[in-house]
This record gives sequence, C-alpha cells and structure tokens, in this order.
Amino acid sequence: MSLLVVGSVAFDSIETPFGKVDRTLGGAATYFALAASHFTTVRLVGIVGEDFTEEDQAVFRGRKIDLTGLERVSGKSFFWAGRYSQNMNERTTLATELNVFASFRPKLPKAYRDSEHVFLGNIDPALQRLVLRQIRRKPKSVGLDTMNYWISGTPAELRETLKHVQILTINDDETRQLTGEHNLFRAARHVFKMGPQTLIIKRGENGAIMVHRGFVFAVPAFPLEEVRDPTGAGDTFAGGLMGYLASKGRITEQTLRSAMVYGSVVASFTVEQFGVERLATVTRPEIVARAKQFARLTTFRL
Ligand code: AMP
Repeated sequence: MSLLVVGSVAFDSIETPFGKVDRTLGGAATYFALAASHFTTVRLVGIVGEDFTEEDQAVFRGRKIDLTGLERVSGKSFFWAGRYSQNMNERTTLATELNVFASFRPKLPKAYRDSEHVFLGNIDPALQRLVLRQIRRKPKSVGLDTMNYWISGTPAELRETLKHVQILTINDDETRQLTGEHNLFRAARHVFKMGPQTLIIKRGENGAIMVHRGFVFAVPAFPLEEVRDPTGAGDTFAGGLMGYLASKGRITEQTLRSAMVYGSVVASFTVEQFGVERLATVTRPEIVARAKQFARLTTFRL
C-alpha cells in the first residue's frame, strides 16, 4: 500500500572514530525511503538544489521509490555535518545549512494525494500539517518524527500536528522534553492525550521501546561487532517500521510488533558503513535472514 514520506534529502559530512566522509548523500527522507522500499512503494516529498546530480539520484533507481515529489530548485541542497564521540554515544552537530530547505513548502503531486500511509519526517510541524492537508482521505496511519528544535521552538504548532498522528517516533530525551515526564511510561500517557496511540522511543544502541495504549513491546539493537556510522539509524528504523506496516495494510498489535523488529533489522545494516553505503546494497534475503536471527535472539522458554 502507498506510503508517503516528507523530509530532508541532504548532503552530510560525517566523522566517526572509524573515519570521515565528505558531502555524502543523506537526509532523513533518503534513509527512510531506501529502508521502506524493501517492503512497499514509497512516494518521496522533498527538495534539492542544483548540486544534486544524476549520480546522487542513482541510488534511488531500480527501487520502488517515486521521486515525482522531489522538487529541484536553484541553490544548494540541505547540508549537515556531524562528529561522533569515541564511544559513538554522543553526536555534535558541526553545521546545519538549510539552503533550499529554508523555503521548502511541500507540494504533493496529484498522484500522491491518495496515500494511505504517511510519515512526516523531522521538519517544521506547520509544514508537516501542510502535507496532511493535501491528502484527500484520512490516512490509515500517520507517523511523525521531530526533534528538540521543534519541541522547544514551536510547541503549539507541534501540538496541533500531533492531533493527527497515530505513531510518534522520537528518542528518550525528546520524549522527556515533550512531556516533562522523566519516566517513559508516564510520558507515554501524556503523549496519548496529545493524539498518538503509539509512542516509539528510539534508544540507539539500546534498541527501541513501543508503548501502545494496550501493550508494551521492546526490541534490542541487533548485536553487531562493528558500528561505523550511526547516522540515519533512526530514519532507517522508521522506514523499515512504516514500510512493513504499509505492506500489511493494517495496524494491529501483531503488525506493530513485527514492524519494530524489521525497523531494527534494517537500521542494523545502515550503521555498518558510512552514510547510505550499506543500506543501498542490502538485499531482501539479507533482511529476512537477520530478522530470523533476531527472533532467536529474543526467544526463550518460560
Ligand atoms: P539521524 O541520525 O536518524 O538523526 O538522521 C540523520 C540525518 O538527518 C542526516 O542525514 C541529516 O542530513 C538529517 N538532518 C540533520 N539535521 C536535520 C534537520 N534539522 N532537519 C532535517 N534533517 C536533518
């Protein structure tokens, strides 16, 4: 089933203890779309500048990714630079250059307006709502990601947008900031009052927790010997999760639980190499094989 994503398509410069890359293709919508396209067709809404070349676009080719909604304008694409600490648990943002992203007003191509599943990547909450307004019928699921900048900068706008969201995917600090609650389960109760019925807290190397009105489910991060670059793990996770849900067409306890596992599995490939390098080569059989290993990792006898 159709899955629409809006978010950044960017160039990233990344430094980790394993090395450095300069101006590699990144952006939340890029990671999300590549991940989700293993499960369903993805419609991408974003903006790039003249520096986004055919070569950059090649990574999307041959996949179930529709780029009709990727606007090209004069100027430079969004640029982000970050450096990770020695243990990679902390990230310092060295540069955020909005460039063409600063004047982004998402416009949905006609063919996107019947999208049944929607993911609102981390952008201005007013623009996230603008996307929803262009969808003809109420989607079956709306997921949303946001960050500290919007939680503290435009809280009223964010609250308004959250009223239309079912699945909120944020990290633990953001959850605490949004709700003012330190305990994540109490925080979830606050989130439920804002609109979403499902709160998914991304916890990096500690995996992810899903708190739903009726149940709680947790997944560890897939155990890897080498993590080279955590950039995009959260967006990849969201792409795997929403892609799986869209492919099933129904949001139930069972599909939500499986979606958490597929999100974690796909994210585990992303972090193995810099940027989208590994995500761009991972195959469906590799994803399935790792999902099976994941099941063994978490199964036990009572
Ligand atoms: P993550 O590691 O999941 O937080 O995502 C990293 C990606 O988010 C990078 O590819 C960046 O280009 C993108 N990004 C960083 N800052 C922003 C921002 N303020 N708005 C939108 N995208 C961003």
